[in-house]
Amino acid sequence: MITIKQSEKLKEYRRYFHRFPEPGYLEMKTTIELIKELKAMGFENISYGKKIHSKRIGLPSEDEIKSHAESLGKIDVDFDVEEILQGYTGLIVDYDTGRSGPKIGFRFEIDGLKIEETKDENHLPNKLKFRSENNKCMHACGHDAHMAIGLGLADYVKNKKDLKGSFRFIFQPAEEGVHGAKSMVDAGAVDGLDYVFGAHIGIRVPGGVIGVDTDGFLATEKFDIDLKGRASHAGILPERGRNALLGAASLTLTLHSLPQHSKGLARVNVGVLRAGSSRNIIAEDAHLEVEIRGESDLIVKDLKEGLFAAVEGTALAYGLEKKIETVGGSIVFRSKYKDFAPGFNKYLEDSGFKTVMNPRLNASEDICYMLNEVEAKGGKALHFIIGSDLAASHHNGRFDISEDSLELGFNMFTKLIDYIYLIEEK
Ligand SMILES: [Zn+2]
Ligand SMILES: [Zn+2]
Repeated sequence: MITIKQSEKLKEYRRYFHRFPEPGYLEMKTTIELIKELKAMGFENISYGKKIHSKRIGLPSEDEIKSHAESLGKIDVDFDVEEILQGYTGLIVDYDTGRSGPKIGFRFEIDGLKIEETKDENHLPNKLKFRSENNKCMHACGHDAHMAIGLGLADYVKNKKDLKGSFRFIFQPAEEGVHGAKSMVDAGAVDGLDYVFGAHIGIRVPGGVIGVDTDGFLATEKFDIDLKGRASHAGILPERGRNALLGAASLTLTLHSLPQHSKGLARVNVGVLRAGSSRNIIAEDAHLEVEIRGESDLIVKDLKEGLFAAVEGTALAYGLEKKIETVGGSIVFRSKYKDFAPGFNKYLEDSGFKTVMNPRLNASEDICYMLNEVEAKGGKALHFIIGSDLAASHHNGRFDISEDSLELGFNMFTKLIDYIYLIEEK
């Protein structure tokens, strides 16, 4: 079980990383600080930069990447940070105990959200002076806590002398918007793992409770759609114009009429629609940002077909050119090993943990790419919710966790390692 020193360290990590949140693929300082800390712990096998990525989607603009890198000033470290500063963020740490045994992987997200953190003085980060130093970004989803647990667990694994097999810690960028996992999986992030695990803090599970085997992952795809028409004088020659604004408006209504599905929950949302340049010009351009979600991969596949047909039809009807770009995506996950989650749940209960089975996420989480990939190759995978009493909901400027959940998550993962050894011996 956790020592006082470990418990304090978890809070310290969490509060440290809380101060400099960075959005997806801009987690440059975050990545560098993680590497520094892991090197200080004595880890040698740390991979980062281009080699841990394949095709990154949903990237910030080149300008954003450049200006964020510049904002960090001179970086004084003894390792090469060039690719990190190009937006190849995240890292993977491998550690071999030197004794034969399973290869166990853990994934932790590292990105923040473009939200301003509250200035309310009762908000713990304000009280204890670890508020975000960047008014445009905040760790409002608890990924600071995930990193803290990841670092704590890495340190535990490194120092606990009776462990066997090998461990991999995946610190993944750009989970928000589900951009990051697929790029890492395609570059081999989970190759060779016998097990892979992940957890999220505080989603509808109260403090002190572990949610075992998360259910209700939603499959999703995110698209940017651009329509191009032809500008013309709105009074003199409107018929010469090709109205991208009208096309986009019509497309929005068509898309929002798609989510009816007999196989389960289906969602479509047009979250952004920008069109036109001036009131007396037939609008030449329109830009839409759209997401589809479904309870199963099949539902998302059907919604996607509907979306492509709707764009095609709208373009034809309004005489527009169209471009669809996929900027994010995730799939669902159900473990195919029916005994694994209940077995570990019982083990946790017998060890004095309060648990709940199959908490529902009702959101998308791109860790599903990793969980599925490992199980497809014969390994086992599970996802957990680490219960926490929240000050406000996720993705809100007042979001805050109860910090005892750091310990809870850490303890759960150490128990999970014990449990794997137990079932591997059988
Ligand atoms: Zn989030
Ligand atoms: Zn999150």
